[in-house]
Amino acid sequence: MCGVAAMVSVSKKTTDARMEVVTLEQSLFKTVISGSSTGGPNAPETTWAVFFYKPYCGACRRVRPIFHALATTTNHTKQLRFGEIDCVKWRPLCNHAGAKSQPVIKIYSAKETGAFPRREVASWQGVLIAYEVLGWFVGLQSRGAIDADVVFASDEVLAEAMRKFKESGDHRVDRTAKKTANPRAYLDAVDRAWRMGLHDAVFQRDDALGGERLVAMAEWLDALGYALPAKPWRDLADKLRTRLVDKQTWSPERWAKLLKSYGVAEPSFDRLACGYPCSLWQLFHALLANSDRHAAPHVLKAIQAWVVNFFGCSECAEHFGRAWAELRGDSVDNAFAANLWLWRVHNAVSKRLIREGDATKISPWPTNDTCTTCFKSYHERLEAEARAAKRKKKGKPDDVIPPPEPLGGALGGIGAPEDDYDEGYVFQFLAETYCFNSDTFVCAAFDDPSRARKHRLPILNNGNHDGEI
Ligand SMILES: Cc1cc2nc3c(=O)[nH]c(=O)nc-3n(C[C@H](O)[C@H](O)[C@H](O)COP(=O)(O)OP(=O)(O)OC[C@H]3O[C@@H](n4cnc5c(N)ncnc54)[C@H](O)[C@@H]3O)c2cc1C
Repeated sequence: MCGVAAMVSVSKKTTDARMEVVTLEQSLFKTVISGSSTGGPNAPETTWAVFFYKPYCGACRRVRPIFHALATTTNHTKQLRFGEIDCVKWRPLCNHAGAKSQPVIKIYSAKETGAFPRREVASWQGVLIAYEVLGWFVGLQSRGAIDADVVFASDEVLAEAMRKFKESGDHRVDRTAKKTANPRAYLDAVDRAWRMGLHDAVFQRDDALGGERLVAMAEWLDALGYALPAKPWRDLADKLRTRLVDKQTWSPERWAKLLKSYGVAEPSFDRLACGYPCSLWQLFHALLANSDRHAAPHVLKAIQAWVVNFFGCSECAEHFGRAWAELRGDSVDNAFAANLWLWRVHNAVSKRLIREGDATKISPWPTNDTCTTCFKSYHERLEAEARAAKRKKKGKPDDVIPPPEPLGGALGGIGAPEDDYDEGYVFQFLAETYCFNSDTFVCAAFDDPSRARKHRLPILNNGNHDGEI
């Protein structure tokens, strides 16, 4: 017996492949390749996407939720099915399939020849960001490797499916490091900062909003409408933008009326220890964490234009403008670079404040005790330990292992020197920190739903007000 019957007999759970990923093992994997001529959900026109993973591999745990989300939300089972193989249990099989290191996704298809066996037509191993994986599938479809009838779900639906998968308990997000003790405070900060900016900053330098500044404000609202971490906030920013560009000039009175009519109340900052400027940084970091690779450079430009045109601290704006020129903010062209650009500039400001003696509590971020893995010295030490263990096993004399860096790194308790940061891990830590409780697709891969349950998002009371002014 082969093909469909073998597949169906595995478990009741696998009968509707659209609903989940089929767990493949030796014989089933062969079935995927050799196929069945009897038709049904394993006929020659069925393409298989197979995920090769190891349960303990952190990178695999990042990719698995999007792979499962695609399987549970994509229609046309007959054209595209999803399976996964545990490469700890089935190592020789994974090696034989050319998936020696994981995570890997391979596409098997018999479409070109019209007959079995299916052949590998594409293989993915790349950036561990959900939208990159989706983009790869969509790209394959445009090249004809996946049937044109297959419809991939919207970003919102995929984000929800990823969260459901993570919450199912089958999956634990691999956390890079500790987050803040109270992540809810960060969300409060983001919410307050974007609203405060609309009340406080718009007329600080000029008593009318028009011309270039109006364009900068429209871009800012565009960025908020795309990348704020909660849909009601994004919708509200979109509505404000639509109203903003209706007019060529705004007076403070008319602007205040507009904000009032949409229920954008001026927040108080009494409860927050670090006040408005530090919340602004958090807002900026959150906007970039929520941006995909196409949007992130535009969002960074909108941040720059906002700081230059509206930030009340003119000295800060001037420094920021200089950093933009010196560190080539305008040449940033992807999400990784955009997130790290702002991180570097923020740390440069903090370091200057430390040097000038203006700050007692400020430190470069993250510190060694909040994200140990963010430091190269940590990885170097691990490698040295592994080398030493190997030498010991072979009976060779001990390697000299450098003593561990004191917590806080070489700057003696206030962080580590910039060049000790491992930027790949810093990017991941930025995303995990600033994706907390966000409902966007971009953030779904980095968000940890078990934490989100404990810290519900404050929903802004904007209703569906149409904002008459
Ligand atoms: C655009 C801008 C420019 C500024 N320029 C100046 C200036 O030129 N001179 C001046 O005196 N003040 C400046 N400030 C204010 C200053 O940077 C601090 O915001 C302020 O001193 C309060 O510092 P803080 O320690 O409370 O936290 P902040 O530095 O405001 O940081 C807020 C939170 O963000 C997180 N964080 C810290 N660093 C990073 C990082 N690198 N990446 C990601 N997250 C991080 C931490 O959780 C921290 O608690 C500027 C502020 C902004 C928004």
